[in-house]
Amino acid sequence: MADTFILKIFRGSPGNQYWEEFELALRPFLNITSALMEIQKNPVNRKKEKVTPVAWEQGCLEEVCGSCSMLINGRPRQGCTALVENLLKATGGRTITLAPMTKFPIVKDLVVDRARMFQNLKKVRAWIDADDSHDRGFGPKMSQATQEMRYELSTCMTCGCCLEACPQVNAQSKFIGPAAISQARLFNAHPVGKLMAPARLRPLMEEGGISDCGNAQNCVEVCPKQIPLTESIAIMGREVSKQALKDWMSLPDADPS
Ligand code: SF4
Ligand code: SF4
Repeated sequence: MADTFILKIFRGSPGNQYWEEFELALRPFLNITSALMEIQKNPVNRKKEKVTPVAWEQGCLEEVCGSCSMLINGRPRQGCTALVENLLKATGGRTITLAPMTKFPIVKDLVVDRARMFQNLKKVRAWIDADDSHDRGFGPKMSQATQEMRYELSTCMTCGCCLEACPQVNAQSKFIGPAAISQARLFNAHPVGKLMAPARLRPLMEEGGISDCGNAQNCVEVCPKQIPLTESIAIMGREVSKQALKDWMSLPDADPS
Protein backbone atom coordinates (compact mmCIF):
# COMPACT_ATOMS: atom_id res chain seq x y z
CA MET A 1 0.00 0.00 0.00
CA ALA A 2 1.24 3.56 -0.75
CA ASP A 3 2.67 5.66 2.11
CA THR A 4 0.26 8.51 1.46
CA PHE A 5 -3.40 8.88 0.57
CA ILE A 6 -5.61 11.71 -0.62
CA LEU A 7 -8.56 13.25 1.21
CA LYS A 8 -10.79 14.96 -1.35
CA ILE A 9 -13.11 17.24 0.58
CA PHE A 10 -16.23 19.09 -0.62
CA ARG A 11 -15.92 22.26 1.38
CA GLY A 12 -17.01 25.88 1.52
CA SER A 13 -20.22 27.67 2.47
CA PRO A 14 -23.66 27.73 0.80
CA GLY A 15 -23.26 29.15 -2.72
CA ASN A 16 -19.48 28.67 -2.73
CA GLN A 17 -18.66 24.99 -2.44
CA TYR A 18 -15.65 23.37 -4.09
CA TRP A 19 -13.52 20.22 -3.91
CA GLU A 20 -10.10 20.49 -2.34
CA GLU A 21 -7.50 17.73 -2.02
CA PHE A 22 -5.01 17.06 0.75
CA GLU A 23 -2.27 14.43 0.71
CA LEU A 24 -1.58 12.82 4.06
CA ALA A 25 0.78 10.21 5.46
CA LEU A 26 -0.86 6.83 5.94
CA ARG A 27 -0.41 5.26 9.36
CA PRO A 28 -2.04 2.27 11.00
CA PHE A 29 -5.42 2.83 12.67
CA LEU A 30 -5.72 6.39 11.35
CA ASN A 31 -9.38 7.37 11.27
CA ILE A 32 -11.05 10.20 9.37
CA THR A 33 -11.28 12.45 12.44
CA SER A 34 -7.54 12.04 13.12
CA ALA A 35 -6.83 12.74 9.44
CA LEU A 36 -8.84 15.98 9.68
CA MET A 37 -6.82 16.90 12.79
CA GLU A 38 -3.63 16.43 10.73
CA ILE A 39 -4.98 18.91 8.17
CA GLN A 40 -5.88 21.31 10.98
CA LYS A 41 -2.25 21.21 12.19
CA ASN A 42 -0.90 21.88 8.71
CA PRO A 43 -3.61 23.17 6.35
CA VAL A 44 -1.69 22.92 3.06
CA ASN A 45 -3.52 21.46 0.08
CA ARG A 46 -2.15 19.22 -2.66
CA LYS A 47 -1.22 22.27 -4.75
CA LYS A 48 1.05 23.30 -1.82
CA GLU A 49 -1.21 26.28 -1.01
CA LYS A 50 -1.76 27.31 2.60
CA VAL A 51 -5.56 27.25 3.07
CA THR A 52 -8.02 27.71 5.91
CA PRO A 53 -8.32 24.54 8.07
CA VAL A 54 -11.27 22.31 7.22
CA ALA A 55 -14.24 22.77 9.58
CA TRP A 56 -15.93 19.66 10.99
CA GLU A 57 -17.70 18.69 14.20
CA GLN A 58 -16.54 16.14 16.74
CA GLY A 59 -17.44 15.27 20.29
CA CYS A 60 -17.08 11.88 21.97
CA LEU A 61 -14.72 10.26 19.41
CA GLU A 62 -16.37 6.88 20.10
CA GLU A 63 -19.54 6.88 17.96
CA VAL A 64 -21.86 7.95 20.74
CA CYS A 65 -22.56 11.63 20.07
CA GLY A 66 -23.10 11.50 16.29
CA SER A 67 -21.59 14.94 15.70
CA CYS A 68 -18.89 13.81 13.25
CA SER A 69 -21.45 12.45 10.76
CA MET A 70 -20.62 13.18 7.13
CA LEU A 71 -20.61 11.50 3.73
CA ILE A 72 -17.51 9.31 3.53
CA ASN A 73 -17.09 7.91 0.03
CA GLY A 74 -20.73 8.88 -0.44
CA ARG A 75 -22.10 6.97 2.57
CA PRO A 76 -23.42 8.71 5.70
CA ARG A 77 -21.38 7.62 8.72
CA GLN A 78 -19.16 8.89 11.54
CA GLY A 79 -15.60 10.08 10.95
CA CYS A 80 -14.38 8.69 14.29
CA THR A 81 -15.07 5.05 13.37
CA ALA A 82 -14.11 5.26 9.69
CA LEU A 83 -10.61 3.77 9.42
CA VAL A 84 -8.60 5.10 6.50
CA GLU A 85 -6.96 1.73 5.74
CA ASN A 86 -10.34 0.00 5.50
CA LEU A 87 -11.76 2.72 3.26
CA LEU A 88 -8.79 2.47 0.89
CA LYS A 89 -9.00 -1.34 0.85
CA ALA A 90 -12.72 -1.17 0.01
CA THR A 91 -12.16 0.98 -3.07
CA GLY A 92 -8.68 -0.22 -4.06
CA GLY A 93 -7.74 3.42 -4.70
CA ARG A 94 -5.76 6.17 -2.94
CA THR A 95 -8.54 8.73 -2.58
CA ILE A 96 -11.28 9.07 0.05
CA THR A 97 -14.03 11.65 -0.49
CA LEU A 98 -15.60 13.60 2.36
CA ALA A 99 -18.68 15.79 1.96
CA PRO A 100 -21.27 17.34 4.27
CA MET A 101 -24.62 15.57 4.59
CA THR A 102 -27.11 16.93 2.06
CA LYS A 103 -30.40 16.82 3.98
CA PHE A 104 -29.41 19.49 6.50
CA PRO A 105 -28.46 23.17 5.99
CA ILE A 106 -24.71 23.61 5.51
CA VAL A 107 -22.90 25.74 8.06
CA LYS A 108 -19.36 25.42 6.70
CA ASP A 109 -17.26 22.68 5.07
CA LEU A 110 -18.36 19.41 6.73
CA VAL A 111 -20.50 21.06 9.43
CA VAL A 112 -24.27 20.92 9.00
CA ASP A 113 -27.12 22.14 11.17
CA ARG A 114 -29.06 19.10 12.47
CA ALA A 115 -31.59 21.26 14.35
CA ARG A 116 -34.54 19.68 12.45
CA MET A 117 -33.80 16.39 14.21
CA PHE A 118 -33.99 17.99 17.66
CA GLN A 119 -37.17 19.87 16.73
CA ASN A 120 -38.70 16.55 15.67
CA LEU A 121 -37.75 14.99 19.02
CA LYS A 122 -39.56 17.85 20.74
CA LYS A 123 -42.62 17.25 18.53
CA VAL A 124 -42.91 13.65 19.75
CA ARG A 125 -42.12 14.55 23.38
CA ALA A 126 -39.03 12.31 23.43
CA TRP A 127 -38.70 12.41 27.18
CA ILE A 128 -40.44 11.09 30.33
CA ASP A 129 -42.58 13.60 32.21
CA ALA A 130 -41.55 13.11 35.83
CA ASP A 131 -42.84 14.88 38.91
CA ASP A 132 -39.83 14.80 41.22
CA SER A 133 -41.20 17.33 43.71
CA HIS A 134 -41.62 14.51 46.21
CA ASP A 135 -40.27 10.97 46.58
CA ARG A 136 -42.68 8.46 45.05
CA GLY A 137 -40.35 5.50 45.63
CA PHE A 138 -39.43 3.04 42.92
CA GLY A 139 -41.28 3.27 39.63
CA PRO A 140 -43.16 0.38 38.02
CA LYS A 141 -41.11 -2.63 36.95
CA MET A 142 -40.21 -3.26 33.34
CA SER A 143 -39.86 -6.75 31.86
CA GLN A 144 -36.45 -7.95 30.68
CA ALA A 145 -37.71 -8.06 27.09
CA THR A 146 -38.94 -4.44 27.28
CA GLN A 147 -35.66 -3.33 28.84
CA GLU A 148 -33.68 -4.97 26.05
CA MET A 149 -35.88 -3.52 23.33
CA ARG A 150 -35.71 -0.04 24.88
CA TYR A 151 -31.94 -0.24 25.34
CA GLU A 152 -31.47 -0.88 21.63
CA LEU A 153 -33.66 2.11 20.71
CA SER A 154 -31.97 4.30 23.31
CA THR A 155 -28.61 4.05 21.52
CA CYS A 156 -29.83 6.52 18.87
CA MET A 157 -27.34 9.39 18.79
CA THR A 158 -29.41 11.73 16.57
CA CYS A 159 -26.58 11.50 14.03
CA GLY A 160 -28.84 12.10 11.03
CA CYS A 161 -27.57 9.22 8.86
CA CYS A 162 -31.08 7.73 8.59
CA LEU A 163 -32.53 11.06 7.42
CA GLU A 164 -29.69 11.48 4.95
CA ALA A 165 -30.44 8.08 3.38
CA CYS A 166 -34.24 8.43 3.40
CA PRO A 167 -35.68 9.35 -0.01
CA GLN A 168 -38.71 10.93 1.68
CA VAL A 169 -36.59 13.54 3.49
CA ASN A 170 -35.66 16.64 1.53
CA ALA A 171 -35.73 20.42 1.84
CA GLN A 172 -39.40 20.55 0.75
CA SER A 173 -40.76 17.61 2.72
CA LYS A 174 -42.05 17.86 6.26
CA PHE A 175 -41.43 14.16 6.97
CA ILE A 176 -40.43 13.74 10.59
CA GLY A 177 -38.08 10.87 9.71
CA PRO A 178 -37.36 7.44 11.19
CA ALA A 179 -35.26 8.52 14.20
CA ALA A 180 -38.06 10.54 15.86
CA ILE A 181 -40.62 7.80 15.13
CA SER A 182 -38.35 5.26 16.81
CA GLN A 183 -37.81 7.56 19.80
CA ALA A 184 -41.59 7.94 20.20
CA ARG A 185 -41.72 4.11 20.42
CA LEU A 186 -38.91 4.15 23.03
CA PHE A 187 -40.74 6.56 25.35
CA ASN A 188 -44.19 5.04 24.78
CA ALA A 189 -42.78 1.68 25.95
CA HIS A 190 -41.74 3.17 29.31
CA PRO A 191 -44.20 2.39 32.16
CA VAL A 192 -44.47 6.09 33.05
CA GLY A 193 -43.90 7.45 29.56
CA LYS A 194 -46.84 5.45 28.17
CA LEU A 195 -49.22 7.73 30.08
CA MET A 196 -48.36 10.42 27.52
CA ALA A 197 -48.46 8.02 24.55
CA PRO A 198 -51.35 9.81 22.77
CA ALA A 199 -49.34 13.06 22.81
CA ARG A 200 -46.53 11.26 21.00
CA LEU A 201 -48.82 9.51 18.53
CA ARG A 202 -50.86 12.53 17.47
CA PRO A 203 -47.96 14.46 15.86
CA LEU A 204 -47.33 11.31 13.81
CA MET A 205 -50.86 11.61 12.36
CA GLU A 206 -50.18 15.10 11.01
CA GLU A 207 -48.72 16.21 7.69
CA GLY A 208 -45.12 14.94 7.61
CA GLY A 209 -46.05 12.12 9.98
CA ILE A 210 -45.67 8.37 9.75
CA SER A 211 -47.75 7.98 6.59
CA ASP A 212 -45.03 9.82 4.62
CA CYS A 213 -42.70 6.84 5.03
CA GLY A 214 -42.41 5.09 1.66
CA ASN A 215 -40.87 1.93 3.19
CA ALA A 216 -37.71 2.08 1.04
CA GLN A 217 -35.82 0.77 4.13
CA ASN A 218 -32.64 2.78 3.41
CA CYS A 219 -32.71 4.10 6.99
CA VAL A 220 -32.20 0.72 8.60
CA GLU A 221 -29.36 -0.05 6.17
CA VAL A 222 -27.27 2.95 7.21
CA CYS A 223 -28.00 3.27 10.94
CA PRO A 224 -24.60 2.85 12.63
CA LYS A 225 -26.32 1.55 15.77
CA GLN A 226 -28.35 -1.08 13.87
CA ILE A 227 -31.54 0.26 15.39
CA PRO A 228 -34.53 -1.67 13.98
CA LEU A 229 -36.05 1.45 12.43
CA THR A 230 -38.43 -0.25 10.03
CA GLU A 231 -39.75 -2.42 12.90
CA SER A 232 -40.31 0.78 14.93
CA ILE A 233 -42.11 2.38 11.97
CA ALA A 234 -44.37 -0.67 11.52
CA ILE A 235 -45.22 -0.84 15.26
CA MET A 236 -45.82 2.90 15.54
CA GLY A 237 -47.94 2.80 12.35
CA ARG A 238 -50.31 0.36 14.07
CA GLU A 239 -50.32 2.44 17.28
CA VAL A 240 -51.10 5.60 15.31
CA SER A 241 -54.04 3.86 13.58
CA LYS A 242 -55.44 2.67 16.92
CA GLN A 243 -55.07 6.17 18.39
CA ALA A 244 -56.79 7.72 15.34
CA LEU A 245 -59.73 5.34 15.87
CA LYS A 246 -59.90 6.17 19.58
CA ASP A 247 -59.84 9.90 18.79
CA TRP A 248 -62.59 9.43 16.19
CA MET A 249 -64.70 7.59 18.78
CA SER A 250 -63.82 10.33 21.33
CA LEU A 251 -62.50 7.76 23.83
CA PRO A 252 -60.62 9.45 26.72
CA ASP A 253 -56.81 9.22 27.10
CA ALA A 254 -55.40 7.39 30.14
CA ASP A 255 -55.46 9.47 33.31
CA PRO A 256 -51.78 10.35 34.03
CA SER A 257 -52.47 11.24 37.70
S1 SF4 B 1 -31.71 6.05 14.22
FE1 SF4 B 1 -29.58 5.48 13.77
S2 SF4 B 1 -29.06 6.63 11.92
FE2 SF4 B 1 -30.90 7.56 12.77
S3 SF4 B 1 -30.20 9.23 14.02
FE3 SF4 B 1 -30.40 7.45 15.37
S4 SF4 B 1 -28.39 6.47 15.36
FE4 SF4 B 1 -28.41 7.89 13.66
S1 SF4 C 1 -38.36 3.07 5.41
FE1 SF4 C 1 -39.40 5.05 5.61
S2 SF4 C 1 -38.14 6.18 6.97
FE2 SF4 C 1 -36.88 4.46 6.24
S3 SF4 C 1 -35.79 5.24 4.47
FE3 SF4 C 1 -37.66 4.39 3.75
S4 SF4 C 1 -39.10 6.08 3.66
FE4 SF4 C 1 -37.43 6.71 4.95
